[in-house]
Amino acid sequence: MSEYDARTAAGEEAILSVVIPIYNEEETLSVLAERLLAVLEEMDESWEVVFVNDGSTDASGDIIRRLHQGDPRFKSVSFSRNFGHQVAISCGLDFACGQAVVAMDGDLQDPPEVLPDLLRRWREGYEVVYAVRIRRKENFILRACYAIFYWFIQLISRTPLPRDSGDFSLMSRRVVDLLNQTPERGRYLRGLRSWFGFSQVGIPIEREQRSAGKSKYSLRRLLKLAF
Ligand code: UDP
Ligand code: MG
Repeated sequence: MSEYDARTAAGEEAILSVVIPIYNEEETLSVLAERLLAVLEEMDESWEVVFVNDGSTDASGDIIRRLHQGDPRFKSVSFSRNFGHQVAISCGLDFACGQAVVAMDGDLQDPPEVLPDLLRRWREGYEVVYAVRIRRKENFILRACYAIFYWFIQLISRTPLPRDSGDFSLMSRRVVDLLNQTPERGRYLRGLRSWFGFSQVGIPIEREQRSAGKSKYSLRRLLKLAF
């Protein structure tokens, strides 16, 4: 399914891995990399960024390759075609070698500037640190659908699913290892992550608007994820 450049996998073990699924994000990738670099270099931790190129048909693959040439701590896995957001994250988690692994979106809706906060809570002992979206900026109808979804899922599920938390989160090595071993297909990561039952904490973030391009989630895909 994926082609992985072995050279990028070599090197010393990172403390922090940042996994980022990418599907046609040529407009945001360079800014994303700049902002990541600025934050990560401030943090005084060994790090790697694992981009998962989910079958992009624009220049995303080339941009990622150039980023890797400029700094080998930017790594990439590349899919033969588009497999979808959740599959891309799962694959990135598989390749990540850090003791703490962050999953975040590549469209700058998840601000990289939150990384130090996530890591701080992990150092305090939490195994899962997830971002909670305050003041969503999506349109009214979508917000209403999300509200109904979270209400319904709480109604039918015995696993508490933190409201308005997305995939943007940090997971400890232990949680990532478990996820990687979990045979679940059709994954809903934020649900599994909570279902494992490890100590977890939310930190509030204001989710930015998509910085460029359109959401890759069509109504059909959102419904599939909801199911
Ligand atoms: N993405 C992906 N594969 C897909 C759809 C999206 O890897 O098939 C990536 C996308 O590039 C972005 C992240 O997953 O980095 C979240 O996607 P999007 O912003 O479209 O979702 P939304 O924020 O609208 O829920
Ligand atoms: Mg988005």
